[in-house]
Amino acid sequence: MLFKLYCPNCGNEYGINESIWKCSCGNYLNIKVEPDFSFDFKKVEMRSKCLWRYRELLPIEKDENIVSFNEGFTPIVKMRKTIFLKLDYMFPTGSFKDRGATVLVSKLKEIGVKSIVEDSSGNAGIAISAYSAAAKIKCSIYVPEIISEEKYMQLKIYGAKVVKIKGTREDVAKEALKEAEKTYYAGHNWNPFFIEGTKTIAYEIFEQIGVPDNIIVPIGGGSLILGIYKGFKELEFMGIIDKMPKLYGVQSDVCKPIYYGLLGKEPKDTIKGEVLAEGIAVNKPPRGKEIVKAVKETEGNVIIVNNDEIIQGILELGKMGIFAEITSGVVIPALKKADLEEDEITVAIITGNGLKTASKLANILSKYK
Ligand SMILES: [Zn+2]
Repeated sequence: MLFKLYCPNCGNEYGINESIWKCSCGNYLNIKVEPDFSFDFKKVEMRSKCLWRYRELLPIEKDENIVSFNEGFTPIVKMRKTIFLKLDYMFPTGSFKDRGATVLVSKLKEIGVKSIVEDSSGNAGIAISAYSAAAKIKCSIYVPEIISEEKYMQLKIYGAKVVKIKGTREDVAKEALKEAEKTYYAGHNWNPFFIEGTKTIAYEIFEQIGVPDNIIVPIGGGSLILGIYKGFKELEFMGIIDKMPKLYGVQSDVCKPIYYGLLGKEPKDTIKGEVLAEGIAVNKPPRGKEIVKAVKETEGNVIIVNNDEIIQGILELGKMGIFAEITSGVVIPALKKADLEEDEITVAIITGNGLKTASKLANILSKYK
């Protein structure tokens, strides 16, 4: 399969192995495949239950460059009648971001990158640090100062240089971009190889339960919802499925740029109030317009939840035997608020492990009593 980097802004194309992370016009890049590509999905049935079972659909040329812990093919469980939870916290570093990291870091190894800088609310930086450690690539991770202690510790353990930045998620990205002038920028909200990894969640859901009617997914920088969109879109393009699921993104009421985007309003670039769902507090996602387009095109919506609802969501998940990180709590109130038909099949994605924000949660719950 032939993959190419292309710019959705000016149309420029680049070779898939070029060591660039943005277009000469300044826009982010995407990855496209030759127009006549096809893939027989039956091929994967006998392969090992990890996301590299979709090898031909991932833009890495040589197998020897793959950096992997045999991650992926996470369980999907029934919550009640037509509602399923995809347990995408069940990854080596405890979040779905390993999907993106395994493909991104494999490509970095393939093109000979030796050191990188990345900015993250936590989980993407953690995933990229772990895979970089495995690939012997040096990495600097810029994080917001509100990062949980557990996430900070996890970054340090993988050997990353960690830089805490005051201010918004946007401020963190700006500082990382300054360092990127000297080294390769692997920002997961910019780099298209990250989304090539997250798209595998769509293939997995398709194999596990077919095409659901709705998918409920937290939106921060958008790497998950865009991966889901791309994965299902490719299945549709290959003639394997004939309908797209409706994509329902969830944001918290303290930071909701995609909600504004959907209403056609200029995204507000401030964060108002206490940030509990730190994983989705991204005030200016670089691919914001693309996220809005994916939601609109699939006839989905953006659902807004508040901090109390998020905590209730975490407690409800706990009662089902699922310990999720605070951000993942957003999908439970969203399931109630989305206007879903009872007989429709719905999948909600649980994105991060509860152990990542355990001390923060302990603090919050102590105030609740
Ligand atoms: Zn361009």
